[in-house]
Amino acid sequence: MAMIWNEMVECMSRDEMRKLQSYRLKNVVEHVYHNSPFYRKKMQEMDLSPNDIQSIDDIAKLPFTVKQDLRDNYPFGLMAVPMSEIVRLHASSGTTGKPIVVGYTRKDLSTWAEVVARCLTAYGITKHDMVQVSYGYGLFTGGLGAHSGIENIGGTVIPMSSGNTQKQIQLMHDFGAKALACTPSYALYLAETIRESGIPLEEFQLRIGVFGAEPWTENMRKELEEKLNIKAYDIYGLTEISGPGVGGECECQNGTHLWEDHFFPEIVDPETLQPVEPGQQGELVFTTLTKEGMPMIRYRTRDLTTLNYEKCACGRTAVRMGRILGRSDDMLIIRGVNVFPSQVESVLLEMPEFEPHYFITVDRVNNTDTFQIQVELRQEYYSDEMNKMLSLKKKIASRMQNVIGIQPEIKIVEPRSIERSQGKAKHVQDNRNLFNK
Ligand code: ADP
Ligand code: ZN
Repeated sequence: MAMIWNEMVECMSRDEMRKLQSYRLKNVVEHVYHNSPFYRKKMQEMDLSPNDIQSIDDIAKLPFTVKQDLRDNYPFGLMAVPMSEIVRLHASSGTTGKPIVVGYTRKDLSTWAEVVARCLTAYGITKHDMVQVSYGYGLFTGGLGAHSGIENIGGTVIPMSSGNTQKQIQLMHDFGAKALACTPSYALYLAETIRESGIPLEEFQLRIGVFGAEPWTENMRKELEEKLNIKAYDIYGLTEISGPGVGGECECQNGTHLWEDHFFPEIVDPETLQPVEPGQQGELVFTTLTKEGMPMIRYRTRDLTTLNYEKCACGRTAVRMGRILGRSDDMLIIRGVNVFPSQVESVLLEMPEFEPHYFITVDRVNNTDTFQIQVELRQEYYSDEMNKMLSLKKKIASRMQNVIGIQPEIKIVEPRSIERSQGKAKHVQDNRNLFNK
């Protein structure tokens, strides 16, 4: 029987959850109204006072918050407590644009360690297990976030951080780590490195992957589970809301449970900002219900996904989020067609001839968008015969066209020549915007 870290909340009835959320929403609105000039002003502009928020159903009355608000108030303008109460700072890795800074009180850190503990327990990790953390340590929330969750459940942390890939493999092997926490793209690189090292996979104790911080597909899950002989679980989070552990998968691997007693999720249409029909895709929005240091009211994540409120077979009632299709900021519009890098990944993983590494280059020549995908052919499929190579190229180009909607130019490159990622993978170079930035 799988364990549950905090059964009382993870399995709470929907009714009770709404009550808890209502109570907490009222508190956080009072808190920001009285302690954050930024939110007070926003509310006053909308003629709102804390009294207007009586239950979680009133959340739609509140204003949205966006990343630009964090940049405009850089570095500490959104703190809702005196700086003397802030015990830790983090900053987003800045995948898209300038970094943003967040601050945590002691209580915020303990909440974070609590939600990560729920995820780890759902993956089957216990105090008897050793977990190698290969997310970067530092301003990025990945390393320290995973770290405190492991300590919280009483497991043993190996605080590797990212990089130094040979040593990662050696210590994982020698120490007998049961679980590995890193980005899926780095896990793929580690898997390749293990294969090349010649150490038999059976000599590793690894059973569980704690993968997140970037979008990944079901096909990537299969690939990682096979290559590392593990079960690979999703962990989701973002710096603005706290970091990794805003949600995690359970043994059913059928959606990522969001810890909605702390982080209230909504899905809105990114154009109209109205709530979508239940089950429909849209932009994920979070309100932190218990944060003290830097609460977020209706923060627009830019992540596109769906929510499912049905009770899960694992016994948890906590809402489940579907796979993140990508960030709306990651979406490329090429010749008018919406293209997500994750679509390219999923095609590559279906084709045994290719490695799951790729790099997209977009440019504009004579007012037309160009769209090139570099892919690595596996060694054993290389051929001196021009015809064979051409037909492979055709095959992948037409498969891409089916999935994406437009045909890319495929460039086949030498095995291992696409740069491997040790953190969040960079898959796209868009040269079109260079002049209007
Ligand atoms: P940055 O915005 O600089 O990348 P963060 O580390 O806060 O900094 O990144 C959070 C974002 O990473 C999320 O909003 C989401 O887009 C992505 N992300 C995190 N975890 C996952 C996951 N499990 N699946 C898909 N995307 C994820
Ligand atoms: Zn479940």
